[in-house]
Amino acid sequence: VFAGLSYAILLRMPLVSITSRFQDVQNVLGSVRRVEELFGEAHIVPDGGGTLAPGRGSVSFTGVTFAYEDRPVLSDVSFTIPAGRRVALVGRSGGGKSTILRMLFRQYDPQAGTVSVGGVDVRRLDVGALRSRITLVTQDVHVIAGTLRDNLTFYDDRWPDEQLLRSVEEVGLGTWYAALPDGLDTRIGPGAAGLSAGEEQLLALARALLTDPDIVLLDEPSARLDPHAERRLRRTMERFIEGRTALVIAHRPETLTIVDDVMVVEEGRVVSLTPRPDPTDGTDGPVDQRFFVGRS
Ligand code: ATP
Repeated sequence: VFAGLSYAILLRMPLVSITSRFQDVQNVLGSVRRVEELFGEAHIVPDGGGTLAPGRGSVSFTGVTFAYEDRPVLSDVSFTIPAGRRVALVGRSGGGKSTILRMLFRQYDPQAGTVSVGGVDVRRLDVGALRSRITLVTQDVHVIAGTLRDNLTFYDDRWPDEQLLRSVEEVGLGTWYAALPDGLDTRIGPGAAGLSAGEEQLLALARALLTDPDIVLLDEPSARLDPHAERRLRRTMERFIEGRTALVIAHRPETLTIVDDVMVVEEGRVVSLTPRPDPTDGTDGPVDQRFFVGRS
């Protein structure tokens, strides 16, 4: 079934979407392993076959060391995030924040140590089962040339239109949607109606919301959005991570207001994991302002 689905996707998706990143497709079709193979991902991780008990969403790294080929990136990283806790990852560029998210999504396995979800080593799990519980929203949102519906579902018809609309509303795209000439059938993406950078990010969250993940991995956009779009995106992220285990790479100090804890990642090490600083006490706590975009 999955292989058939992937061929259907290949046949129906325009070339541009096949050759660009397929992260979002994986998010939506978590169990479609073949998408990965067909799309030619270089690093295919072996499948452990195990399933996760429902509702178990804690996350932990134990002594994790990782290098891209021979480039060391993470060195003996250990931390635990209990289920339902929201954590911002901060630290200078290149410190390893995105790599931590990618390892949780099992795009890479550690050379030493263990990455666990719900107390289970992710290598023992079925990759699709893991990815159906975890969503990874990266900065490069992938809008395909197709309808809004195609862009939300990537041709998977398991969601009724009402659910698609609810998701669009929930991320704050309701007004934008109301102005579309053909509703869910409106063509968007390359060669059609454009979306602003902020709207693209919201679309990515609407997609992610459809899968109702237990664990959310989010890389906040570092590019400047206008202040209104930025606030709107932050409010949406806040609602999205509420009640879920969340790891959010924060590029703005304001983002710390929507999390419980702050993890500082520097030069491949977790330097600290502490409750977020109290915004009313006038100090930054452990959070160096140089970690954020536009600060020096
Ligand atoms: P940023 O905020 O800039 O994304 P980061 O803290 O998320 O930084 P990572 O993206 O995890 O850091 O990257 C850590 C290091 O690994 C960097 O030096 C980066 O250049 C390197 N790196 C990242 N991806 C790869 C890759 N696919 N192959 C080789 N090196 C990589």
